[in-house]
Amino acid sequence: MDSAAGSCNACGATGTALMKLSLGKDFFGRIYDRLSPSTDQSPKWYCEACSMQKNLQRDFRDISAEIDKLVAGQTSELSKPDEFQRATLRVREIVALLDTVQNRSSLLTSAEVTRLLERLNTVTVPA
Ligand SMILES: [Zn+2]
Repeated sequence: MDSAAGSCNACGATGTALMKLSLGKDFFGRIYDRLSPSTDQSPKWYCEACSMQKNLQRDFRDISAEIDKLVAGQTSELSKPDEFQRATLRVREIVALLDTVQNRSSLLTSAEVTRLLERLNTVTVPA
């Protein structure tokens, strides 16, 4: 697909700069396996607002998955106090950023992120 003639894969915007998103590493610095997720087999193109949200969504998903593990008593990146701190700050940042973007796509809603922040606030990290 020609990026100039394409449309944003998330909100359908046309006639705007589109960027191909490459998700190389996840929030915790682990290499993201591009071959496993079925959604990553074809390149996607997003307009600026959606590509930002897509990045936020990726971090949101990484942190959500890790808090699920933590709550289940499994090994989690969030059991490290510094990672937990970093993740909490990032989620707060995502809440703030979502408030400033025009939310034309439904990649990520501030309600979802607020719920994640509430979950982080109720978890006690082992010191
Ligand atoms: Zn878009």
